Amino acid sequence: MTALDGPYYRLGVADVIEETDDAKSIVFDVPEDLKQRFAYLSGQFLSLRIEVDGHRLVRCYSLASAPGLDPRHKVTVKRVVDGRASNWLNDHVAKGDQLEVMHPNGIFCLRDRETPLVLFGGGSGITPIISIIKTALRTTSRLIKLVYANRNDRSIIFKDELARLLSKHADRLEIVHRLDDVHGFVDPALVVQQVGPRTDADF
Ligand SMILES: Cc1cc2nc3c(=O)[nH]c(=O)nc-3n(C[C@H](O)[C@H](O)[C@H](O)COP(=O)(O)OP(=O)(O)OC[C@H]3O[C@@H](n4cnc5c(N)ncnc54)[C@H](O)[C@@H]3O)c2cc1C
Repeated sequence: MTALDGPYYRLGVADVIEETDDAKSIVFDVPEDLKQRFAYLSGQFLSLRIEVDGHRLVRCYSLASAPGLDPRHKVTVKRVVDGRASNWLNDHVAKGDQLEVMHPNGIFCLRDRETPLVLFGGGSGITPIISIIKTALRTTSRLIKLVYANRNDRSIIFKDELARLLSKHADRLEIVHRLDDVHGFVDPALVVQQVGPRTDADF
């Protein structure tokens, strides 16, 4: 039995993927008896409970995988300077490990509408967004715009996967990359410009 105390369950790590110099994805094996408990919507997150230097830490990580499209649950953890959990997860988790994970939670999910979607993401904030984009492309005919800010080109998480989605769905997906070292920070003027006339969109 994989259930622990409270809402936590022990899940096996099926894979660890190096996404960028400072972010790794952790892919989980969800056993058959937990499939229903771990059913999720795009935009929801998992809470990981770990022990670092004798301290128990709980941190939330959005699911970057999409239900019904990706075979396994995947979260992506980006290092935070001096962050305890994010660095521990990047440094210590390996394929075959077991982690304590709470079932999916969260309300940052797609609404049942057909209006355009305008999504703003920065750095690791792309994780719930890529899941939402994949689901919206698969289950709706909504127009989708992503404005995605990163420090530089090397730090763009899911760069190739986004490029593949764009080439397959260029008719209704638009992606605007903003790089701090090239374009400067995103500011209100840019937000106004990118939203344009889509004021009835979901943001
Ligand atoms: C719903 C949700 C979804 C999320 N999804 C993702 C995701 O997909 N990917 C992702 O990478 N992150 C995600 N996060 C963020 C994640 O949960 C963690 O907050 C992040 O990984 C940092 O945790 P940490 O333990 O490494 O940092 P912490 O150790 O909590 O430190 C955070 C910052 O506070 C500073 N700090 C710590 N202690 C002190 C102190 N005593 N005094 C002063 N400063 C201090 C640290 O130096 C650091 O800069 C999500 C958060 C939420 C709420």
